[in-house]
Amino acid sequence: MTSTMALLQPSWRHWHLERDDDGLAWLRLDRADRAVNTLSADVMTELAQALDRLQAAPPKGLIIHSGKAAGFIAGADVDEFAELNTPQDAHSLVERGWHLFNRLAAVPYPTLALIQGHCLGGGLELAMACRYRLAVDVPGTSLALPEVMLGIFPGWGGMKRLPALIGPPAALDMMLTGRPADARKAATLGLVDARVPLRLANRAARQHVLSGQPAHRARGIIGWLNSRPFKSLVAKRAYKQIRDKDPQGHYPAPSAIVTLWSEHNGNALQAPQIIDRILTSDTARNLLRVFRLQERLKGCGKAVDGVPPVRHVHVVGAGTMGGDIAAWCALKGMTVTLQDQDAARIAPAIGRAATLFARKLKDPYAAKQAADRLIPDPAGDGVTRADIVIEAITEQAAAKHALYRSLEPKLKPDAILATNTSSLSLATLRTGLTAPHRLVGIHFFNPVAQMPLVEVVQTDTDEHGNQARACAFVGQLGKLPLPVRDAPGFLVNAVLAPYMLAAMQKVDEGLAPETIDRTMTDFGMPMGPLELADTVGLDIAMAAGQQLTQQAEPPRCLAERIARGDLGRKTGRGFYLWKDGKAQKNASGTPPPDLAQQLIGHLITRTQQQVDQRVIADADLADAGVIFGTGFAPFTGGPLHYRDSKLRNTTT
Ligand code: NAD
Repeated sequence: MTSTMALLQPSWRHWHLERDDDGLAWLRLDRADRAVNTLSADVMTELAQALDRLQAAPPKGLIIHSGKAAGFIAGADVDEFAELNTPQDAHSLVERGWHLFNRLAAVPYPTLALIQGHCLGGGLELAMACRYRLAVDVPGTSLALPEVMLGIFPGWGGMKRLPALIGPPAALDMMLTGRPADARKAATLGLVDARVPLRLANRAARQHVLSGQPAHRARGIIGWLNSRPFKSLVAKRAYKQIRDKDPQGHYPAPSAIVTLWSEHNGNALQAPQIIDRILTSDTARNLLRVFRLQERLKGCGKAVDGVPPVRHVHVVGAGTMGGDIAAWCALKGMTVTLQDQDAARIAPAIGRAATLFARKLKDPYAAKQAADRLIPDPAGDGVTRADIVIEAITEQAAAKHALYRSLEPKLKPDAILATNTSSLSLATLRTGLTAPHRLVGIHFFNPVAQMPLVEVVQTDTDEHGNQARACAFVGQLGKLPLPVRDAPGFLVNAVLAPYMLAAMQKVDEGLAPETIDRTMTDFGMPMGPLELADTVGLDIAMAAGQQLTQQAEPPRCLAERIARGDLGRKTGRGFYLWKDGKAQKNASGTPPPDLAQQLIGHLITRTQQQVDQRVIADADLADAGVIFGTGFAPFTGGPLHYRDSKLRNTTT
């Protein structure tokens, strides 16, 4: 932008309109009193006023950009969703964005959205209503329509404009999964006209908006899929995929999106019954609750004032967990030294890390840089330089104590020592340390790359701030820290144990594993309890069960399998036969009518106990932990919320 810009409208709170010497208008969103731009009702009202003003004196072109370092626009204001009580409220909300963005799309002068950082939901719908879009090629640039994750649909033009821009297959994929596209992918898809380097962004925006180029549209075969009869064929395929993924129909938004696109050209106002059914549904309310719980956990992972981010991590133990934790830290930009008893034990972890980097980064150069950051260190030289040392060795207190004795004298004065222990008490592990407060519990879940939750053990006092720093470190890793008390199984393993035990007792009573697992996946769990036991290993399940349930005898089905050496997936046989990483299942039988409720009842009871015993601070955090740590059916809003809603429904 040039320095001779004229400020046109000082009275708005959120939008700032300026004109430059070339006759271009620059409209900047910088939402007042918020770190992130969202499209609240008043932000939308001011945008309408800005369009009025521009209509009175049309510019040569309009560039919409963000005044926030965090990103472009994060979407609609979710707090306003929470206030949707009546069908009329929902209708008005859809109407507001639909009409305003149609108006933006119809202005006679060329428009361009200059996108840097996140551009989500309503933010992307606004950008798509512009004639052009440029994505600034920086790591945080991410374009998505994630409404489906909140159980709703992109009703402000997204369902109409995204298929028109990039074609229905890619558009439905983005809208039905909520998956984001980075700058590179957005350019490949045609979602943006180009990606531009940061230093050239303003100049590129100026040139592009005046270029006179026609607006991009999906062309050729991909474009035809937007017209009949192809549209119905695409829709039919999409419905089938949705049914295959969610046969019980727990999540109604995906099929509503397909219907709104295929039958109403993305205009939800033509189908008020769908608006009513989706926007004020229990599922949408519960998914909004899950979103807010996730934000709360993210808040626990905020950086600590005055403490610089972790740069160097040293991991001891390159096994299942340590190897994958080390790889994840390197993926997130940290320098990592990885120690084990010898180099041969580190090699498999380095191999797995290479696969992770290739899969996640998709750019050979970036993958190579991540690989360079992960340094095998059998001699443990990295300890003296590390900001945090993570111990992930065998689960034996004596071995861990011996290791800490050798590590502690070498640590930097303010370095944190963390243990990934699943079952040993932090208080016990701290004995023997000269500075016991240094040791914190940071409990990752397996597989590290897929599990978003990390339990961080809290004790009464944190006078040295190490627990807060541990939470911030988890946040730096892009994971969700869950503060828990030092108690057996913390939250997640403690609630899983009685649930899995109850499932095994049903096998002892004669039910087939397939029947039990199918019942629970139908309930909405991502995996049945017996397949889960096979996945973690039956020996580990047995050890956890002995520690975490009051059961004197293990279930017969478990003991017999372990005695035969059938330990689950890792030995190729457990409750199932495993082939190519998949459990081979027979058809499931008819379950007893209340099986799901019985099994889930155990999990709910234990979750409540963990709250009562203050292992977890409150019921909401407990629900968050169980959802993000076990995949507990998100549409229910979490186990305790589910119990309370059921209770309410039966008493009203
Ligand atoms: P693992 O057996 O796969 O790996 C342990 C590694 O530590 C081995 O490579 C071993 O050689 C190494 N090791 C042992 N003593 C050592 C020492 N003194 N110095 C250097 N290296 C040493 O174990 P794992 O499953 O990765 O578990 C590690 C820790 O993580 C345990 O505390 C476990 O309770 C915890 N944990 C495991 C899981 C899981 O699902 N496996 C999940 C969460 C937490």
